[in-house]
Amino acid sequence: MAMSKYVYSIEDDIEHAKVLYVNLTNKCPNNCVFCIRKTVDNIKGTDMHLETEDFDVKDVIDELNNYKNFEEVVFCGYGEPFEKLDILKAVAAYLKYKNKKVRVNTNGLGNVINGRCILPEISNIVDVVSISLNAPNKEQYKEISKPTYDNAYEEMKKFATQCVGYDIDTIMTVVNGHPDYTLDLEACEKVASEIGADFRVREWLEKGY
Ligand code: SF4
Repeated sequence: MAMSKYVYSIEDDIEHAKVLYVNLTNKCPNNCVFCIRKTVDNIKGTDMHLETEDFDVKDVIDELNNYKNFEEVVFCGYGEPFEKLDILKAVAAYLKYKNKKVRVNTNGLGNVINGRCILPEISNIVDVVSISLNAPNKEQYKEISKPTYDNAYEEMKKFATQCVGYDIDTIMTVVNGHPDYTLDLEACEKVASEIGADFRVREWLEKGY
């Protein structure tokens, strides 16, 4: 099988993986302190640094079609998947046509990046969004996520509220256990619950998985 460029897995046997991951971009408007792209080049042998950002839908679908066993695809990589909204939408629509489950792991800034509310464009083709809440308030969010957008925390929460409103399964996550900060997990959970999202704590892992 040809080496993957966009498709990877965290399972040992990618050929028979139930869940595949798609890495669409290395662009991201944040610079989180826990982001593994600063320290780790590959995930289970797949190089996560894309040679070019210039590719199209067919390149990704052709690669996905090399795999037969998967039931779910997660858009998640060394960048923010909604930076590539058009490609994501086309690939997700294809996957829904194939009866696969679609999840997007996002920093929640897809509206700001694309300059519009993207929910009407994704609500029928995305089953689950996992949004990086990262902190219980904007001050700590700035320290942890180092966003380029000033209003990133508010925009991320607004996006999560819209996802809930559009009936997408919405999970808000924090990364706990990083040596550079301490989180008030109860306060984080309260933010997610006020939005109506599920809350998940991910323990920080140096290699990411
Ligand atoms: S939002 Fe994700 S890709 Fe972007 S810096 Fe943070 S962890 Fe890395």
